[in-house]
Amino acid sequence: MGATITHVLGARPNFVKAAPVIGALAALGHEQRVVHTGQHYDERLSDVFFAQLGLPVPDVNLGAGSGTQARQTAEVMVGMEQEFTENSPSVAVVYGDVNSTIGAALAGIKLGVKLAHVEAGLRSFDDTMPEEINRRLTDQLCDLLFATSPEAVGHLAREGRPAGSIHFVGNPMIDTLLASLPKFDAGSARRSFGLDGRYVVATLHRQANVDSPARAAELVAALRQVAAELDVIIPLHPRGRAALAAAGLFGAPGVRVVDPLGYIEFMSLVRGAAAIVTDSGGVQEETTLLRVPCLTLRPNTERPITITSGSNRLVTASELPAAVLKACDDGPYAGELPPLWDGQAGPRIARVMTAWLKARR
Ligand code: UDP
Repeated sequence: MGATITHVLGARPNFVKAAPVIGALAALGHEQRVVHTGQHYDERLSDVFFAQLGLPVPDVNLGAGSGTQARQTAEVMVGMEQEFTENSPSVAVVYGDVNSTIGAALAGIKLGVKLAHVEAGLRSFDDTMPEEINRRLTDQLCDLLFATSPEAVGHLAREGRPAGSIHFVGNPMIDTLLASLPKFDAGSARRSFGLDGRYVVATLHRQANVDSPARAAELVAALRQVAAELDVIIPLHPRGRAALAAAGLFGAPGVRVVDPLGYIEFMSLVRGAAAIVTDSGGVQEETTLLRVPCLTLRPNTERPITITSGSNRLVTASELPAAVLKACDDGPYAGELPPLWDGQAGPRIARVMTAWLKARR
């Protein structure tokens, strides 16, 4: 067993969470290896994040690519089995809830690799979400569970995970946000997209919203109604493109569809928005910190803390237009923010891992 810490990254949300963890471990002098599974391979969903967040160039890219749930998870498993066989780490760190997370964890556990999960314990209790399956199963396989919120700690305890494996450390995605905050320039985002008045940023890519033509049509109709009142700009994830295009998203008056944005450009746009409409997990958290009203087009969320300690609201498509207007009138959330969302999650994770590795030697 080597002395290396291996980070397994596959998709856009992983990059934003991993940057502060890798940085904090590097500051403590750990030898690290970065594996990119290739789940996201588009320059705009991957390379730009490595450049903007100061992530190290991956030591290897497994080229897993896209595919069905099973195919993509299987590709990651096969690639990670070889990777762990050739470069056995002292611990492998997996992030979030994507197919690379569970694929790497399954490959690792069968080879006796010790595993850490960053963003453990989040639950939507909705098994129709592939991400919920990935989260729950990954948490069963990991020795170190890093939770971002108190309710996540409770879920892990109720699922029988040992108390000593659960660590409430705060939210590394918020570390990235706070570290990058001075670079978020709402004025320049406005200028580059020609936005004069109040505007709404929308992101949509969850399976439940973009795989069914009927649901996509419902969402596009709701966005058209919102756009009758305020400009709407959508940095469109490739996953939603076909269904939303077929439902008439392109060419809808007041709706501007653009390619996925780099992190700094995206957060600059979010920072200046009157409200956000989303089905993203991370965006619910980022808007909480930025105190921008967030309307989430989902029946549930694995991040309820963004509702109790933030301005997030779950809405149906038919509720959306009125909810956006109300959110704009209500203005920014002014209450308390979630505990430990203070920019120090990466260093906390690094300290716990260092002590854990020392104890195992
Ligand atoms: N993001 C970005 N550009 C975009 C859309 C999103 O940089 O055009 C960032 C944003 O920080 C977000 C993260 O990518 O939190 C991951 O978002 P995504 O919605 O893809 O994943 P999820 O959090 O839903 O798993």
